[in-house]
Amino acid sequence: MSENDGQQAGSSGCGAAHLRIGHGYDLHRLDVLAPEGEGRPFVLGGVRIEHFRGPVGHSDADVLMHAVTDALLGAIGGPDIGQLFKDTDPAHEGQDSAVFLKEAVKRVTESGYSVVNLDATVVCELPKIRPHRDAICANIARLIGIGADRVNVKGKTHERVDAVGEGRAIESHCVVLLSR
Ligand code: MG
Repeated sequence: MSENDGQQAGSSGCGAAHLRIGHGYDLHRLDVLAPEGEGRPFVLGGVRIEHFRGPVGHSDADVLMHAVTDALLGAIGGPDIGQLFKDTDPAHEGQDSAVFLKEAVKRVTESGYSVVNLDATVVCELPKIRPHRDAICANIARLIGIGADRVNVKGKTHERVDAVGEGRAIESHCVVLLSR
């Protein structure tokens, strides 16, 4: 492999690199489901999970979808999810976050890149992620337009400490690799 392998001629932005990596992170507060609390129905990676608490947010508050979206946008040096979709915009009230992900995928494609693979972690005490893992991976892969074997999602607890560990919040991390 030569020194220049992995790079192509380019003058600006992400045009110079053959490979791009992106990282996304998000956190949402968890609360008892509305109307008793502020929690929305628990949706993770677009998959509905029965749970007595749900994420609080302006959109559907899908923490994993938001982390994946920001990882994709970050990989192409784009604006982040909060810049593209203001959390004060009434149009996004209760919005299905698949809309955000699809916009990020569109921008990745327009930049000349495709997704090699994606690895994400969801951190929460409850509900358990593992029983829903395959459905979540399949749904994210479908939205991105890649095979489910290129999407990995795993669940972790926060060892019962801090807000996440006390069940008051849920967070997600995601890294994605793009190639052109
Ligand atoms: Mg969010």
